[in-house]
Amino acid sequence: MKKLKLCITPPIETENIKLSSPKTTAAGLPAVQSSALHILKELNLKTCASVLFSVNQMDGFDCPGCAWPDPDDERSKLGEYCENGVKAIAEEATKKRITADFFKKYSVQEMSHWSDYKIGKSGRLTAPMWKREGSNHYEEISWEKAFDLIAEELNQLDNPNEAIFYTSGRTSNEAAFLYQLFVRKFGTNNLPDCSNMCHESSGVALSETVGIGKGSVKLEDFYVSDLIIVIGQNPGTNHPRMLSALQKAKRAGAKIITVNPLPETGLISFKHPQSVGDLLSGGTSLTDLFLQVKINGDIALFKAILKLLLDKEKANPNSVFDHDFIKEKTIGYDDLIADLEKANVDELAFASGLALAEIQQAAELIASSKKIITCWAMGLTQHKNGVQNIKEVVNLLLLKGSIGKPGAGTCPVRGHSNVQGDRTMGIWEKPKPAFLDKLQENFSFEPPREHGYNTVEAIEAMYYQKAKVFFAMGGNFLSATPDTEFTALALQRCSMTIQVSTKLNRSHLVTGKSALILPCLGRTERDMQGSGAQFVSVENSMGVVHSSKGKLKPASKILMSEIAIVCCLAKAVFGKDTSIDWLDYMENYDHIRNAIENTIPGFENYNERVRNPGGFYLPNGARDGDFKTASKKAHFSVNPVPKHDLAEDEFMMMTIRSHDQFNTTIYGLDDRYRGILNGRRVILMNKNDMENSNLKSGDFVNLESHFNGVLRKAPHFMVVPFDIPEQCVATYFPEANVLVPIDSFADKSHTPASKLVVIKITWAE
Ligand code: SF4
Repeated sequence: MKKLKLCITPPIETENIKLSSPKTTAAGLPAVQSSALHILKELNLKTCASVLFSVNQMDGFDCPGCAWPDPDDERSKLGEYCENGVKAIAEEATKKRITADFFKKYSVQEMSHWSDYKIGKSGRLTAPMWKREGSNHYEEISWEKAFDLIAEELNQLDNPNEAIFYTSGRTSNEAAFLYQLFVRKFGTNNLPDCSNMCHESSGVALSETVGIGKGSVKLEDFYVSDLIIVIGQNPGTNHPRMLSALQKAKRAGAKIITVNPLPETGLISFKHPQSVGDLLSGGTSLTDLFLQVKINGDIALFKAILKLLLDKEKANPNSVFDHDFIKEKTIGYDDLIADLEKANVDELAFASGLALAEIQQAAELIASSKKIITCWAMGLTQHKNGVQNIKEVVNLLLLKGSIGKPGAGTCPVRGHSNVQGDRTMGIWEKPKPAFLDKLQENFSFEPPREHGYNTVEAIEAMYYQKAKVFFAMGGNFLSATPDTEFTALALQRCSMTIQVSTKLNRSHLVTGKSALILPCLGRTERDMQGSGAQFVSVENSMGVVHSSKGKLKPASKILMSEIAIVCCLAKAVFGKDTSIDWLDYMENYDHIRNAIENTIPGFENYNERVRNPGGFYLPNGARDGDFKTASKKAHFSVNPVPKHDLAEDEFMMMTIRSHDQFNTTIYGLDDRYRGILNGRRVILMNKNDMENSNLKSGDFVNLESHFNGVLRKAPHFMVVPFDIPEQCVATYFPEANVLVPIDSFADKSHTPASKLVVIKITWAE
């Protein structure tokens, strides 16, 4: 029988793709129906009820989906979750199980030819698995043997920097703190994480401008705001409960401006599934002004708005700018104004892809608003100028004095439930000296001071064999990262790859010479340790730290929690060195929280406050108008307008998620809101561009990106006519990640430029 080749990228499956017209209302009964379909496919009714009445409740578990906050006060007894939260829970709490027989039956080659959807639907991992060097099958292994194998591999490295320890944003605070402690005790800062690929640009821009790398607003600010600007974000799919907040804000009188190349359904109108009134009516129209900017046209747009605001201010001094705030709280105003004086608003409008009249409408709305919130996600961060994009938005808030007061401020919405918490716990390749000093003081070892690899650098280090061991705490590294074939080679050049996971994914199939899977408990599951039932904690986008306690019986008796895995691994690696009592931490998570309290500012009385219903807010200077920059002021900045001289046959591509997707987890094959059903290998194109290219709906094309002399190909995508600006196209990741160059990333933050890929389209054979 012909030996199957390992399939690196998702297989081509386009036979059954169906198109229908995009939806103009989000949620409502279709969301209830879809949620029910997804969860009843995976769980029985009793378990459904148990998880749905517990998720995001004060004494429940935190949704393993995004990081949108829960209300500080009353939580809906009917349910504090959204459609995609239900899918995330169904995915984790599924009754399907993967046992040793499964791996005996299917080789990694065979499974690699399955779609990511099929791989993910195989079920929960139930026991540690080992793929020996040269073998095509995983086999069951004992935990002890697994830890010994990893310890042997790590301890035989010439240098701790030959190991990489990746973190996905679902890891709890307690697990993340112990993980970084273990990694730094081992001797490296190689702690790349998924934040490197998503909001790193936000962290850099906000730290430099307002002194903290997190958003400044609270949920309640939405309800007292005059104007909410949603930029490069699709909350209808990626943060669905945000729509309830926007609806409440609208009903309180706020206006909403949406900036996006795509008219996302969730920002058009919304029906609250728990409101009979909404279900019987047309729901709430959300966006007042939709600015369909072209890809990477954001700086041109915001600079044009600032220019128009300046003209208004000059025409009627003190009517637009908050000069008291500017004088007292900011630095760099004159440089910004000098730059705006030179700006040509017509050129800026052209560069943004918008008509000047539309921009003037936006300037009107902004000029008359005092309390403005700006929300954003990957549409701003995943660009070469991702950091500048965000700084330009901050310029607007500073001119209006719209930060550091109720109803106003910054709101980068995090995509993963604890990605912000992991960073707060020290999961960062660039740790601050003060944090390392505290580790040294509290744990009596000399932590490494040299900065480690971020995600892009980690891939390159493995590719050029400067790194030999890759350890992932959760996630699906191969599918989440850019340049899939380059990243695959990098992983395959490792002597060992280890994944801590709940479910199977493509990163378990494209591995180092030997590979291990360490199955862990999920968020929904009970976590019993020596001192009894344990709970963990997470931090949401608004900086609220709260508890999460699973209720379900674990998927298998031998699963270990992330914390137990770190503690047992540390025991195996450090052997006789007992300076840190890992097993005590494993026994009782309160002791971990005590260690966090003694190491990280803002966690005073951690164990007491995390037990308060709803948890507690971490300090946030920008929220109080106390900007912790070197100058103690908020910084204006001058940001250049990017130039993209596309040739006639070139298109700017952005990768996006479908509605049945959370990061690289594929819940289903439908993108209900965009009307793309039963398939994912599609390219959304402007109708005029299709005509100019003699393409029609349903045609198949190949995509090519040329970058720094390297050609990358992605074959066989179906053309879908869509409302998107000319010469802009959109595709789903991970299918199109093979086109995103490893060396194309944002300045300063190194966030892969997944929304800024120049491609050519050729006919598929
Ligand atoms: S909005 Fe995010 S956190 Fe809330 S239920 Fe939905 S997926 Fe989960």
